[in-house]
Amino acid sequence: MIDAHIHVTPPRLPGVGSLSPWLDTPAAVRADVLRREMQAAEVKQALAMGCWNASEEDPLGIAETLALARLVPGLFAIGVADPTRCDAAHLRRVESVLATKQVYALKGYLGYLPYAPDHPGYRPYYELAERYQLPMIFHTGDTYSPCAKLRYAQPLLVDDVAVDHPKVKFVLAHLGNPWLMDAAEVVCKNVNVWADLSGLVIGDANSFTAEQRQEMLAETQQALRRAFRYAERPNRFLYGSDWPLVPMAAYRAFIAAAIPELYHALIFEDNARALFRI
Ligand SMILES: [Zn+2]
Repeated sequence: MIDAHIHVTPPRLPGVGSLSPWLDTPAAVRADVLRREMQAAEVKQALAMGCWNASEEDPLGIAETLALARLVPGLFAIGVADPTRCDAAHLRRVESVLATKQVYALKGYLGYLPYAPDHPGYRPYYELAERYQLPMIFHTGDTYSPCAKLRYAQPLLVDDVAVDHPKVKFVLAHLGNPWLMDAAEVVCKNVNVWADLSGLVIGDANSFTAEQRQEMLAETQQALRRAFRYAERPNRFLYGSDWPLVPMAAYRAFIAAAIPELYHALIFEDNARALFRI
């Protein structure tokens, strides 16, 4: 069981808070909480998003994840592709980190940063993604920041670069939520596009059982089922939670109820194992 989308450090994007008080606790406490969460949901491996605009020595924002990974077996780092920083010196530093093979994917924060996927600032990262065979994940859909600009987070924009960079594997985080069908169409049409199912709803454990939320939860599951069926690509959907925005066990059960059981092995493990090569 692989969770392809969690956070173990605050993303430090413009206008985004810490996501959860857990992310501000000392590493030992965070590691303890994360280990228990993973155990409760039977998650053996998890991929954690880096933070934006870290130091020169940490050009992909993965240092905190790597420090935590020493305490949490099965934790892997995803680096941030920053389209505002594509000067030769920065890219050299990025490449030297990629060469250490400690990075399992790159992530672009569409919407949080007002740059479309076809902005020239992303192009060098596609070349690196291709050269190092790393998936390029994009945040798509709703954002947690009032500073974000939503039109850049529309999943349909990824179609352009999926066509222009056929050797790069793209992942639409959150299946473009709430634009699930747009994201499903991009997955359906392009053989090099995947989607993760993280953060379609957020909330604590009680929010998954609360009476007044059941209708909304059922509607979201129905929308996911429809998009999943439409795409006709069960081998290109990845389970992810977006922890700590949701408890891992509750979210796993929520997604399991939405996806036909026939595809659980693919979605909860096999697809991510093949894509991230873990
Ligand atoms: Zn996330």
